[in-house]
Amino acid sequence: LFAGIQDAPLDPIMRLFEAFNADTRPGKLNLAIGVYTDAEGKVPRLRAVQEAEKRWIEKGLPKTYRPIEGTKPFRDAVQALLFGDGAPILSQNRAATLQSVGGTGALKIGADVLAKLRPGATVAVSDPTWENHRALFTQAGFTVTEYPYFSADTGGVDYPAMRAALAALPAGSIVVLHACCHNPTGADLTAEEWADLVPFLREKGLIPFLDIAYQGFGIDLDADAAPVRLLAESGQEFFVASSFSKSFSLYGERVGALTVVASDPAMRAKVEALAKRLVRWSYSNPVTHGAAIVEIVLTDPALKADWVKELGEMRERIKEMRVRMADSLHQRHPDRGFEAIKAQKGMFSYTGLSPEEAVKLREEHEVYALETGRICVAAVNTHNIDRVLDAIDGAVKG
Ligand code: PMP
Repeated sequence: LFAGIQDAPLDPIMRLFEAFNADTRPGKLNLAIGVYTDAEGKVPRLRAVQEAEKRWIEKGLPKTYRPIEGTKPFRDAVQALLFGDGAPILSQNRAATLQSVGGTGALKIGADVLAKLRPGATVAVSDPTWENHRALFTQAGFTVTEYPYFSADTGGVDYPAMRAALAALPAGSIVVLHACCHNPTGADLTAEEWADLVPFLREKGLIPFLDIAYQGFGIDLDADAAPVRLLAESGQEFFVASSFSKSFSLYGERVGALTVVASDPAMRAKVEALAKRLVRWSYSNPVTHGAAIVEIVLTDPALKADWVKELGEMRERIKEMRVRMADSLHQRHPDRGFEAIKAQKGMFSYTGLSPEEAVKLREEHEVYALETGRICVAAVNTHNIDRVLDAIDGAVKG
C-alpha cells in the first residue's frame, strides 16, 4: 500500500527545526523559527489573553460544536479589525467571514473555494514567499508561478518588476499578496505602490488573495490593513486570510479567519454557502477555545485596548532590535546592505547572508538561520543580541 510513496523532504523550516532540536550544544540559538519571543526569550502569554481565558473557563460552558463559520461576534470582530470600525463595507453585507484553522486553514479553504470557481487558473505568489503558499495552492490543483518581488540590491521590493510580471498574467489569475510584514523578507510595498496596485489588479481582471498573518507587527493595526481597506473601497472581489497565531501569541490554538468579499449580498451568500460546504467536507467545525479567547478580547473594549497596547509593545521591541542590528552590522560591513534590516517590517528579515554563510553561522556559531538568509528578528533580545551580531560578523568575515 505505501511502497509507492515518493520520499520528499519536509520544508526547510521544519527540517531546521528538527536539526535544532537534535543539536546538543548548550549555546544553540534559533533564529530560524517564526515565533515571537519576548525580552526574556519566552513565548509571551498576553495579559488580555490570560484574562479572557480566565473569564472563559469561569463560565464553565459545555464543549459543544461551534458553528461551521464561527460565531457572529467573532466574525464581526474580525471584519472590524480588517476593515476598520464603521467602514462602509461592514454594513454592505458583501463580506463573508468564516473562522478557520489558523491562517493556513484560511488559505486552504480559500484555495478550495477558488478551485471550484476557477479550476486550472494560474496562481502567482511572490518570489520568495512563505513556503506553504506554493504547496497549498498546488494541492488545490492550481499551477503556481512566481512574480518578482524582493530586490537584493535595496533590501526592499522591486515594484516595477513585480507590476510588469503581473501585467503578463492571464485575466482570471489569482495573485497572492502579503498585506504587511512580508514573510520571509520583511520588505513591504509602500502606500503609494498599493494605491497603484489595487486599481491595476482590477483593470487586469486579476483576483487578489491577501494573506495577513502579522497585522499589528508592521506599523499598527490600521496601517497594516490598509491594502485590505483599499481593496474593499475599490468594490472588487477578493479573498483575505487572517491569522491570530502571532498577534495573540496563540499559535497552537489555531485561530484564523477567511474573509471573502463579493460584489453584492447575493453573491456573498452564494460564496459563503460554498465555503461552509467545503469546511464541512474537510474538518466539519472550527475550534472553540482559541476562538472564544480572541472573541472575548476583541469584544471587550478594555481588554481590546490592553491587547492593542501589548501588541504595540511587541512591535516596538522588534523595531528596537532592528535598529541595533542594522546599525551595528552596517558599521562593521558597510557594503553588505545590512541597513535594510531597519526598514524591513514584521518578524523577519532577509539579511543577505549567503547559504554558505548561514551554514557557517549554524555550524561554527550555533545560530540557526534559514539558508536563504532569513532570520527571525522577533527572536533577538537584549540578552542575545551581542552574540547574534558577533556570530553574523564571524560568518560574514569568512
Ligand atoms: N501566512 C504567512 C505569511 C505566515 O507566515 C504564516 C505563519 N508562519 C501563515 C500564513 C500561517 O499562519 P497560522 O500559523 O495561523 O496557520
